[in-house]
Amino acid sequence: MTTATVVGSGPNGLAAAITLARAGVEVTVLEAADTIGGGTRSSEAILPGLLHDHCSAIHPMAVGSPFLRRIDLERYGLRWAWPELDCVHPLDDGTAGVLHRSVAETATGLGADERLWRTLFERPVVDYDVFGTDIMRPLLRIPRHPIRLARFGIPATAPAALLARAFRTEAGRALFGGVAAHAFQPLERPLSASVGLGILTAGHRYGWAVAVGGSQRIADSMVAVLADHGGKVETGVRVRSVADLPPSDITIWDLAPTALAEILADRLPARISRAYHRFRYGPGAFKVDFAVDGGIPWITEAAHRAGTVHLGGSFAEIAAGERDIHAGRMPQRPFVLVGQQYLADPQRSAGSVHPVWTYAHVPNGYTGDATEAIIAQIERFAPGFRDRVVGLTTRTTTEFADYNPNYVGGNIMTGAKNIPQLVFGPRKTLQPYDTGLAGHYLCSAATPPGPGAHGMCGVNAAERALRRLR
Ligand SMILES: Cc1cc2nc3c(=O)[nH]c(=O)nc-3n(C[C@H](O)[C@H](O)[C@H](O)COP(=O)(O)OP(=O)(O)OC[C@H]3O[C@@H](n4cnc5c(N)ncnc54)[C@H](O)[C@@H]3O)c2cc1C
Repeated sequence: MTTATVVGSGPNGLAAAITLARAGVEVTVLEAADTIGGGTRSSEAILPGLLHDHCSAIHPMAVGSPFLRRIDLERYGLRWAWPELDCVHPLDDGTAGVLHRSVAETATGLGADERLWRTLFERPVVDYDVFGTDIMRPLLRIPRHPIRLARFGIPATAPAALLARAFRTEAGRALFGGVAAHAFQPLERPLSASVGLGILTAGHRYGWAVAVGGSQRIADSMVAVLADHGGKVETGVRVRSVADLPPSDITIWDLAPTALAEILADRLPARISRAYHRFRYGPGAFKVDFAVDGGIPWITEAAHRAGTVHLGGSFAEIAAGERDIHAGRMPQRPFVLVGQQYLADPQRSAGSVHPVWTYAHVPNGYTGDATEAIIAQIERFAPGFRDRVVGLTTRTTTEFADYNPNYVGGNIMTGAKNIPQLVFGPRKTLQPYDTGLAGHYLCSAATPPGPGAHGMCGVNAAERALRRLR
């Protein structure tokens, strides 16, 4: 029987393991941490009964993942829940950009930008399940659905800042800009619109869902699928060298390319080792989870009903902040993402105390404390917030890297989404999952299609391994 070892139990490692196990391979997953899940873990971090997502929280990419839908995680205990509003982007004058699941409702709410929002999303959302197969694999392939892909892809090649100029309202421009900033890239760069347009299109199709009972349930249900196909996971096993691996025909690494270069050392062809060592990491995240009595006292009414709230003011302010963190400067008012998952999943709260998930965009390896900057951004749009905080816990960029070595310098994307890395992945090749060492493949979010709890990097790497084995 063919055997495989998967190193790392993030969503990509687990998706690779399931793909192999479903093909009849005997699979063992080795995970360094004591808990499975990588970026999909949750726990009661502050108060008993108050459930926090450690990393990923909002899941349009997972609900819409062709692979996760195919393996029917609902049968293994996963349930999705949706807040009334997907995302709200408040502005200083009390108005806000409001993202509904429906393109039409969002567009209508944007007034003068109605037509633009419809042009950008109406058709791509209808086509998403078709051209989604093209964007969920390496980009440099002959597209299966070129016309539908082009409708989405042509605006996606633009700098976000250029596309932003087409908006006539600040609410529309800022709403788009906040989502584009998920790429952790300067918004003036070509292709910087792509990540935002991808998230918005997937979100309009599938909604910004949360996993009932915490993102951990995504990993738990994936491990249950794996077990059903005979696979197993061993936790508390950090792989430091090839000597730590059991003998197997296939090894799939859910790791950052630089870490893999260290582990495989001179077994890698020299040019691939050099490419992995040259792999670049983008800015970092500084995370604060809050326990908030009575929730956040937002000025903007819609923010009380939104699963996600983006705090950064106007498009220009967000763009300036992203330029700063990219240049290694901590902005006074960083872009802050706020998650209110409890609105869709009330069991995460303890009575009137609610778990609030936040992180700020900061420079890679930032050593300062961004807690006050995050509180100040929330206070700006919700005066009185500070007085409602009954507990908090923080994770700095270095603590992120200790928590999960894939987050180098706190870079939660496992790599900068600059043009070459966005187009090719970890090195300039048409086979981004190959490591150049026979039987060894890379499957982390550093490979296409990139970050998110969708598992598609793992599926693509495992399918490549199976093809080469045959
Ligand atoms: C704060 C934060 C917020 C996020 N928000 C969202 C969100 O809302 N929605 C979304 O879709 N995505 C979000 N993400 C991104 C998402 O979590 C990641 O893109 C995704 O988890 C990547 O999956 P992966 O399998 O590639 O790697 P990871 O999930 O990083 O898993 C890698 C695993 O490998 C293990 N490992 C590392 N080195 C070794 C070793 N040497 N030996 C053994 N095991 C090892 C790690 O412990 C880890 O479990 C967020 C991430 C963070 C950190």
